Amino acid sequence: MFVLLFLVYLKRMFFVGEMSVKKLEHIGIAVKDLAAAEALFTKLLGCEPYKREAVESEHVITSFFQVGDVKIELLAASNNQSTIANFIEKRGEGLHHLAFEVNDIEESLSEKSHEGFQLIHQQPKDGADNKRIAFLHPKSTGGVLTEFCQEKNNNSQV
Ligand code: ZN
Repeated sequence: MFVLLFLVYLKRMFFVGEMSVKKLEHIGIAVKDLAAAEALFTKLLGCEPYKREAVESEHVITSFFQVGDVKIELLAASNNQSTIANFIEKRGEGLHHLAFEVNDIEESLSEKSHEGFQLIHQQPKDGADNKRIAFLHPKSTGGVLTEFCQEKNNNSQV
């Protein structure tokens, strides 16, 4: 028992950085008309989107821009079951979520849950851009819908 606690303590001491957020990965923006938004952001940012990708499970179509180290993810509903359609109906178009890259998404979710943050997804699921993703409820994150994401090929099961 003591040995186990000691190992947990050592892990906390030396690997706390492993569990923390690595960087702001992308900013999600809810849009009504993806083509119109792509044209607008192309003009605004001076670069073209580098990919468009549908996420069937979420009923969204995404479009990505690379801006320095950070990506801009435009999100449009593909049908009215989409949470994006719901979001736009309630709040209009605009800033939807911040996505932070983490090293170990399961561990980060468990850690944040224990710290009192409210999880929307208890387990990560497949997202766009080769990521496993999970959301934290804005009620517990200062009103900002927050996504954790992890690259699928970064030591995780696919
Ligand atoms: Zn996202």
